[in-house]
Amino acid sequence: MVKTSIEDLTTFHSELTISKNAGENHVLRLRLGICPQKVTGVTTFNDFDNNSFKVREWTQLEWYNFRDTIFAQADMWNNQFWLIPPKDFKELDIDAGYVKFRPNIKCELFVQVWNTPAMAQMKIKVAKLDDTVTGDSTTFRSDAVTYDSLDGVAHTFQIPDAGGNKTNIVHYTIPHEIGHALGQPHIGVLKKTAACTLAIAGNPSDPMSAGGANSNRCYGFGGPPSIAENIMGYGTKFDEVNAEPWVKRIAQHTGTDAAKWQVKLAEMPPFMVTA
Ligand SMILES: [Zn+2]
Repeated sequence: MVKTSIEDLTTFHSELTISKNAGENHVLRLRLGICPQKVTGVTTFNDFDNNSFKVREWTQLEWYNFRDTIFAQADMWNNQFWLIPPKDFKELDIDAGYVKFRPNIKCELFVQVWNTPAMAQMKIKVAKLDDTVTGDSTTFRSDAVTYDSLDGVAHTFQIPDAGGNKTNIVHYTIPHEIGHALGQPHIGVLKKTAACTLAIAGNPSDPMSAGGANSNRCYGFGGPPSIAENIMGYGTKFDEVNAEPWVKRIAQHTGTDAAKWQVKLAEMPPFMVTA
């Protein structure tokens, strides 16, 4: 029996919209509730690396603008993944009379802002950096539960591959942190790259391995640009492994084995199924 809705306050909610039209895919929408909370009543605030920054109060306009930035940047996760059902999964086929169609699953993300912390999966503290603090999203090091007012400002990293050839990679903090909120680790962990695996095991002679699963190696530093450019590395690109939150969830909705679903990074219209 297919579930069209799953409520999960510890991860995210999800809704499966079942297509009635043979030409249209089904849609799996993950609904991540966040409750952004202003850092208020203090004049300094520490980032993930324990560096102290001067902060001030948010104006109401700045606050709403920042919330809009969260929505806009989280939207990068949309229109990235389509899931192809297991061969033996027929339950959501559409009978068009003389033939059947098997829609694929279009993956969507909806970030919902809650004012009530208990309704949200993630409570995110957001610091308004003082006007004397300038730069971009890398000035203050954010994490999945702590953002700052410069997080909307992209940073360009120059990341070397194994041969030392550098690639300019534009980094946006918010979609990367949304990835963590969806349960994704860094790309090196997802792809089990040798350099990241070594960093996690402990590689004290290499400063780029410091931090283990959060190390530069696990972001793809010194690896091929296809790894470093990933959304869970330094960049904005998506790989099949990034669809994991949807793959695991569609398996729950349909009572199927997650390993049998295939991920495509381009739109796949429904297939015609022969009996
Ligand atoms: Zn990260």
